[in-house]
Amino acid sequence: MPTNLAKRLDAVVPSATLAMTAKAAELRAAGRKVYAFGVGEPDFQTPEHIRAAAERAMGKSSHYTAVQGTVSLREAICLATERDRGWRPTPDMVTVSVGAKHALFNLAMVLCDPGDEVVIPAPYWVSYPEQVRLFDGVPKIVETSAAQGFRMTPEALDRAIGPRTKAVILCTPSNPSGAAYDQNELLALAEVLKQRDVWVVLDEIYGDLTYDGFQHVSLAKLAPELRERMVVVDGVSKTYAMTGWRIGWAISPPAVAKAMLKVQGQSTTNPAAIAQAAAEAALIGPRDPIAAMARAFAERRRRMVEGLNQIPGIRCDWPRGAFYAFPDVTGLYGIKWGDRRLESADDVTLWQLDVCGIAAVAGEPFGAPGHVRYSYAAAESEIDEALSVLGAAVASAQR
Ligand code: PMP
Ligand code: GLU
Repeated sequence: MPTNLAKRLDAVVPSATLAMTAKAAELRAAGRKVYAFGVGEPDFQTPEHIRAAAERAMGKSSHYTAVQGTVSLREAICLATERDRGWRPTPDMVTVSVGAKHALFNLAMVLCDPGDEVVIPAPYWVSYPEQVRLFDGVPKIVETSAAQGFRMTPEALDRAIGPRTKAVILCTPSNPSGAAYDQNELLALAEVLKQRDVWVVLDEIYGDLTYDGFQHVSLAKLAPELRERMVVVDGVSKTYAMTGWRIGWAISPPAVAKAMLKVQGQSTTNPAAIAQAAAEAALIGPRDPIAAMARAFAERRRRMVEGLNQIPGIRCDWPRGAFYAFPDVTGLYGIKWGDRRLESADDVTLWQLDVCGIAAVAGEPFGAPGHVRYSYAAAESEIDEALSVLGAAVASAQR
């Protein structure tokens, strides 16, 4: 039996967010109470009008659609981009994929030749560097710190771009830190990007989830000159509580859309027709259920961040967006756990899963040791209860 798998996989690690999700599901199946702050996915049911649209589509859709998505969904994406992001693309710029992760994967395939560098500010979403590596690209990580709000400065961006740089990935609001760039910060980054010949990949999947009056502004709106080399990635998973439907998209210059079409035409063909109909209903349908979910996230954020900050050894800044708290947990190092002591964020997550049943993701795979990501897309009662369990465990822990 042959055992030699393709070498390209040797450079890639499995998704840490999905690994923690699987571990939590295993414990739950074994009857253990688990507080699910691991995976970044809303706990809400997809709003009723969206599910109804899918049911209607099920009565009609049984065939392939256009590989890049139906015309009506791509038109809806253009309208929604104008409404939510302040600029209007055209349908020939849109490629609908099986989630935004798939759009980013296709994009890595389309942009990366071996040895091409992709600038990625840390902390980053776990999949960016791995997707780049899968296509023999080289992630060029730019460190940022909690003290600077985990936002990359224009100087750091400028320094990171070299002769081999093919693209820069910007995620705002960010997974995992919740950091988000304001208008002036984006304009300053745009000044650097305008001088350099690189693709700009803008992940705006959390663009509708911001707090305390902070408004997400799209770099595509602010710097129209960059659009000819910009790819905006977005999707319905987060804003519309539709992670399982698997619809995301890229908005790019038509030449890139054509390349993505080539890739999808030889791999997935179109995303599921029924999910496309549901996504269209999400984008053009009533806004009230969407606003209600965003309000719920704001309240959960307050409870999560305040609660974490009450635990000695944990220090959490207020995230501007997304649904993650990303505290510094180095103050918990030294806690005794069996015959060892906690000495990394990874240890902290394993310890709190074991001792408290809390699933969260360590900062290391996000490029931010010393931190843990708690997704607060969970019920308020779960957040309160979990934090009191964690607080009690820390208080009674031996050092
Ligand atoms: N980008 C970011 C920053 C994310 O956190 C996620 C995680 N869901 C995705 C893209 C991909 O989302 P999906 O594939 O569910 O559309
Ligand atoms: N993006 C989410 C997360 O970071 C979902 C899991 C994944 O796609 O990696 O948890």
